[in-house]
Amino acid sequence: HEDKRRFVLHVVEERRIKFIQLWFTDVLGIPKSFQITPAELSNALEEGMIFDGSAIDGFSRIQESDVIARPDPDSFTVLPNQPHVARMFCDIVNLDGTPFEGCPRNVLKRALERTHALGLTFFVSPEIEYFYLDPTTNKPLDEGSYFDLSLSDTGSELRKETVFALEETGIAVKYSHHEDGPSQHEIDLRATDALAMADNIITARLIISRVAANAGVLATFMPKPLAGVQGSGMHLHMALFDDENNIFADPNSADGLSPQARHFIAGLLAHAGEVTAVTNQWVNSYKRLVPGYEAPAHIAWAHHNRSALVRVPVAPSTREENYQIEYRAPDPACNPYLAFSAILAAGLDGLTNSIELPRETTENLFTLPDSKRDALDITPLPSSLEEALLQMEGSDLVRSTLGDHVTEWFIRNKHAEWERYNTRISEYELARYLKVL
Ligand code: GLN
Ligand code: MG
Ligand code: MG
Ligand code: MG
Repeated sequence: HEDKRRFVLHVVEERRIKFIQLWFTDVLGIPKSFQITPAELSNALEEGMIFDGSAIDGFSRIQESDVIARPDPDSFTVLPNQPHVARMFCDIVNLDGTPFEGCPRNVLKRALERTHALGLTFFVSPEIEYFYLDPTTNKPLDEGSYFDLSLSDTGSELRKETVFALEETGIAVKYSHHEDGPSQHEIDLRATDALAMADNIITARLIISRVAANAGVLATFMPKPLAGVQGSGMHLHMALFDDENNIFADPNSADGLSPQARHFIAGLLAHAGEVTAVTNQWVNSYKRLVPGYEAPAHIAWAHHNRSALVRVPVAPSTREENYQIEYRAPDPACNPYLAFSAILAAGLDGLTNSIELPRETTENLFTLPDSKRDALDITPLPSSLEEALLQMEGSDLVRSTLGDHVTEWFIRNKHAEWERYNTRISEYELARYLKVL
């Protein structure tokens, strides 16, 4: 670690950095930051910075409110278009140096340590979808759709600028394109290890928003901002490596999938209902997970079926490193640290307990009659935040992965949110019922 600290101090001096932002997130994944000057850097790297955590959602209680932010030198980067500003992500620790239980980054680190103990490294590559909207009308900027190539549209210009800014920050972009909805866009990131990727997603959301805001545009990660068109998902492509090898690939099996891949998928399916509150944490998330919009609504897997929750979208002949399991439920408004932790735990449970993979679902689940679906033993994902919470509450897997502190705070906070939503009178109700005789 000493080498990395020295490297950070060196870069700060060399590039005349004047301001270092220390980033972390609350339990919901909302970014938080405070700033230090280079004079404080050495101390911050060695001892961390003490702050009052009691005002952060899901952090400490008032009577034990002081915590320490320890910057992770691995996450050091200069910010785009701000040549004298750098940032590092922090781990939050208690005053006695033990990991603070309310810190989502600690939760993911713990989950990854368990994976390392099995000799495995977890890689993730997300497809980040979002809309550009006019901030005064909340209307889309264009009427474009999937893979449209238009020469002069604001959204595509903003997306291009965003990709440059991401690359400048050291976040490698696989590709980007216009998505299916009006001024809906997608940016796919190249796989990295899960901790770096969770940091990258937080950074990417900020950069996407910042570039848009500079042009007077709102970039939104709200899962379903417009009725009647697709919502925004954040499909996650996952691979597990032991040393050099992707353990999901087996060139000798009929479909290229290894037994470990099949068990991992089985674990994802077995626990899908329990982890959905974490991967889809807002009331609005459940308006996306409905049939007909290329978002999953049922717990099933397939190679190429876009109505399934899990896909393995590779041909058996592709290179080994391409064997990635795609989990399609998450949306871009989730907390990536907690979502990665919960999904990984689900898959690993399948792997370590050799859970049997059910048959592939080739039927279109959006149009399949319920009776046929029942006969195939395929169940729906939770259809509301409340239902998802009830399943999460019964889950030992989620509790042991997120820890008691985060689990209890999350469930309490989300039930309160559901209650607030559910007791409001909507525009729809007024229009529909006010004049009923
Ligand atoms: N927007 C879809 C979703 O909500 C995904 C569309 C796609 O990438 N095929 O998940
Ligand atoms: Mg895509
Ligand atoms: Mg897409
Ligand atoms: Mg996808």
